[in-house]
Amino acid sequence: MKPTTQQTLITELQSFGVRLADPGAGAASRRGGAGPSDHKAMTVEGQTVMVPVHTAPAFASPYVAEKPDATGVSVIRRDGVAVGEVSFPLKPRFYELQTLDGIPYSQIATLHGRDVLATTILQTCIRYQSRSKTCKFCAIGQSLAAGRTIAHKTPEQLAEVARAAVLLDGVKHMVMTTGTPNATDRGAAVLCESAFAVKAAVDLPIQGQCEPPDDDAWFTRMKAAGIDTLGMHLEVVTPALRAEIMPGKASVPVSRYLDAFRAAVPVFGRGQVSTYILAGLGDTREAILSIAETLIELGVYPFVVPFVPISGTPLEDHPTPSPAFMREILQPLGGMLKAAGLLSSEIKAGCGKCGACSALSSFEG
Ligand code: SF4
Repeated sequence: MKPTTQQTLITELQSFGVRLADPGAGAASRRGGAGPSDHKAMTVEGQTVMVPVHTAPAFASPYVAEKPDATGVSVIRRDGVAVGEVSFPLKPRFYELQTLDGIPYSQIATLHGRDVLATTILQTCIRYQSRSKTCKFCAIGQSLAAGRTIAHKTPEQLAEVARAAVLLDGVKHMVMTTGTPNATDRGAAVLCESAFAVKAAVDLPIQGQCEPPDDDAWFTRMKAAGIDTLGMHLEVVTPALRAEIMPGKASVPVSRYLDAFRAAVPVFGRGQVSTYILAGLGDTREAILSIAETLIELGVYPFVVPFVPISGTPLEDHPTPSPAFMREILQPLGGMLKAAGLLSSEIKAGCGKCGACSALSSFEG
């Protein structure tokens, strides 16, 4: 099937990045940290996506976004020819606030995509402490070192910011991720206390993201604490590549992830457990589609996103995957998800629901 204009533009912008004629357009982009970084949110034909703007490929991209007009709409040109329009979500109002002790709300949580509040509860990670264990794509320590965030967001701070983001900016769901604090609960405990506090302050669907904990009892605890959906992110699926790219995290093998998924789906529900797979780090199309098939059978949503290198990481010069490679994965994967009735639109909270880091949801229709 021929890709639509929207699918083509999103996959191309996410692969090549875009140069901005007006770097101040839209909400400030984020540099370093966990999750999408060196990106800016843009809305392409109704779908908000994260597009690289600060990466080496983006500086050489054939795409340029013109200065937005008075309504915030910007013409996108490829090699000088207009190919579409994007708009930029505005800076959220909660960014203007700070806690009583003077911490800007934007250092506690940020707006992702159009309507997602995202936070990295612990900005430190046992995997990040030694060069030999660090995930080579990750920049979790960079924004902390640069003073753009704080090391541990307390449950009270998260609750305060979540409430403001709902009231002032209408955020619809929240993503809580965390650096891995230990080799036992692997972040599940800090997710529980944080979700409990947020849910006590405001009715906001929450996705918790952590490595598989050592004890499956954590899944029931997380659900009881107010976590609606769970993300346990494989990132890379081929065992030898996992060991090379994320030597610390690969100590939890794919088999443990699969067991954890089997235990978590009955607790959170089919389609409410997901994983994040970074295409472009060496996994073949076949390897990604094969594990996606297994995951879909288990009721797990495989959110496949194009890898985007982050400045300052060991993989900062690693190329992004080509639009053709992404289409070869996303097109069949979208069909598999549709056939299984496992759709991003049914997810209560989190990355799969937001979808801004990938064109995947546009292939589910
Ligand atoms: S898909 Fe996840 S990481 Fe990407 S912008 Fe949305 S919430 Fe953030």
